[in-house]
Amino acid sequence: MIPQANPRAQYQSHRKEIEAAIAGVLEKGRYILGEETAAFEREFADYVRVHFGIGVGSGTEALHLALRACGVGPGDQVITVPHTAVGTVAAIELCGAMPVLVDIDPRSFTLDATKLPAAITRRTKAIVPVHLYGQSADLEPILALARSSNIRVVEDCAQSHGATYRGKRTGAWGDMACFSFYPTKNLGAIGDGGLVATDDPQLAENARLLREYGWRERYVSSIAGWNTRLDELQAAVLRAKLPTLDADNARRRHLAEMYDELLTPSPVTLPVEMPYGQHVYHLYVVRSTRRDELRAFLKEHGIGSLVHYPVPIHLQPAYRGRLGDVGSFPEAERAAREVLSLPMFPELTEEQVRQVAEAVHTFSKGR
Ligand SMILES: *Cc1c(COP(=O)(O)O)cnc(C)c1O
Repeated sequence: MIPQANPRAQYQSHRKEIEAAIAGVLEKGRYILGEETAAFEREFADYVRVHFGIGVGSGTEALHLALRACGVGPGDQVITVPHTAVGTVAAIELCGAMPVLVDIDPRSFTLDATKLPAAITRRTKAIVPVHLYGQSADLEPILALARSSNIRVVEDCAQSHGATYRGKRTGAWGDMACFSFYPTKNLGAIGDGGLVATDDPQLAENARLLREYGWRERYVSSIAGWNTRLDELQAAVLRAKLPTLDADNARRRHLAEMYDELLTPSPVTLPVEMPYGQHVYHLYVVRSTRRDELRAFLKEHGIGSLVHYPVPIHLQPAYRGRLGDVGSFPEAERAAREVLSLPMFPELTEEQVRQVAEAVHTFSKGR
């Protein structure tokens, strides 16, 4: 069986470093907000090329924390897309704010900036562009609109560790940026984890306080916060893996290039690398109007695949009717019907890529 993702293979390829990191934390005896977290926050902020990193409990919490640090609260509106992980929208609602959705560009699967002006109101407090599948959203028009309307931009970088936009990494463009270290992400922990990145000292301070009950001094809350912390074990594992993130991303790009070649010509629509930046292929996502049949066929042939995401946010039972209805966001709805994520992870072999591509061709010839 070729899995769609394989976090265990990541562990195996970093086994020595990971086991040493874990043993080190166990021995030191400090398990929350210690040296490992502080060091990882510095190292990851350096990687993104921003001044501050604040480690938190998950990507969803990173978004929640960043939005709260920007002052988002009840009565505010926050713009994002319907084609994303539900965490993006959950974080907005955790602030008591109202998500306002804008459809995606069908080529990049990211926010269509031409549709943004119509969504902006006097209550718009922030925009959350999602860099989906490993590719940046088209940030310049989004940032220009935001700056001229005094709106904050919080990047959702949960799938874009290391991806660039106009030569600069995602996460270094907005007022704040949020990363997830869920095990299958391009930089993955061995549990949950996340980080907020920013260049703004005031926003960084807000985020740091909110992360731990508003404590400037232990047990004394200067503002009302809560608890969302990155733990030492996760930080140590992430430090062990960060040095190979660029090599892992290069490997993903190489495998994507192989898929591109082997699947041309083919009946599926291939992912597009937009001219404005470097894709890091968190996922290799094709489109097919017979997606469910293709997925079943691949499964019969021992090939795993997943659908990211099968239901757009506005049509999920929890949000339906509140954030939109059938037909509100046609491109997101079409993407939900057509997308399929083929196997993609750094340890995937070239032989396996050939096997997958062959199976896709066999599927199309057979019908
Ligand atoms: C994974 C992901 C999140 C949520 O991150 P968690 O760590 O799972 O909470 C948010 N947005 C996007 C685009 C994601 O892929």
